[in-house]
Amino acid sequence: LFISFEGVDGAGKTTQVERLRQYAESLGRSVTVTREPGGTALGQAIRQLLLHGVPEIPEAYRTDGAAERLDGRNAQKADSTAEDAARNAGIAARAEALLFAADRAQHVAQVIRPALERGGIVITDRYLDSSLAYQAGGRELTVEAVRRLNLWASGSLLPARTYLLDMDTDISHRRLTHSEDRMESAGAAFQHRTRQAFLELAREEPRRFRVIDAARPVEVVWQEIRADFDALLAG
Ligand code: C5P
Ligand code: MG
Repeated sequence: LFISFEGVDGAGKTTQVERLRQYAESLGRSVTVTREPGGTALGQAIRQLLLHGVPEIPEAYRTDGAAERLDGRNAQKADSTAEDAARNAGIAARAEALLFAADRAQHVAQVIRPALERGGIVITDRYLDSSLAYQAGGRELTVEAVRRLNLWASGSLLPARTYLLDMDTDISHRRLTHSEDRMESAGAAFQHRTRQAFLELAREEPRRFRVIDAARPVEVVWQEIRADFDALLAG
């Protein structure tokens, strides 16, 4: 049984993932909890690149100043977004989408599929829908292009259930604690776009998604997820 949690940073995914892990284990199930980006060793290296930038490379390997041109374009923009964060590292939009897809391909091959084949429950903190919302949401790449790329990368493996923890982005933004979150420095408009992109995905696939109002207390949110999970196990 494959389950993903999605939503903007600060929506409480990590907390609910942990609740579900404890609950599923209490039912005697074998549970694998994982995350994107960074669910494998390769993924950790990719995560490092995406969130903290590209390491300096020796002068001899530098080619045509493409990175400087990207930096120059970026410097003209005042408000910083996740998109800008990638550009700060000189990572072009298509390259960024490919890096997230590479992380996912490795994650599926090394962690998710093997665990599912052993009959376990896999719970992932972000999956393919994050790429559709972040790499395509309001950006130069279309949702269709990013979807095709990621269906290829994942071998078309989709979760049986996706919990979209949804909340007003003014609230989620205030909750942020992780300095690693790229959206911590992102503009309010970017966060709002990302939320809307997730909601649109949920509307497209109502059978897979459950939209959970995550602005409510943790326990209330958890009870709604638990009820759905029980139904999923029973069905
Ligand atoms: O969920 P997590 O905190 O691990 O994500 C790290 C950062 O990467 C977040 O700020 C998130 O917004 C961003 N991200 C992204 N595109 C993805 C997945 C995550 O921009 N496909
Ligand atoms: Mg986070």
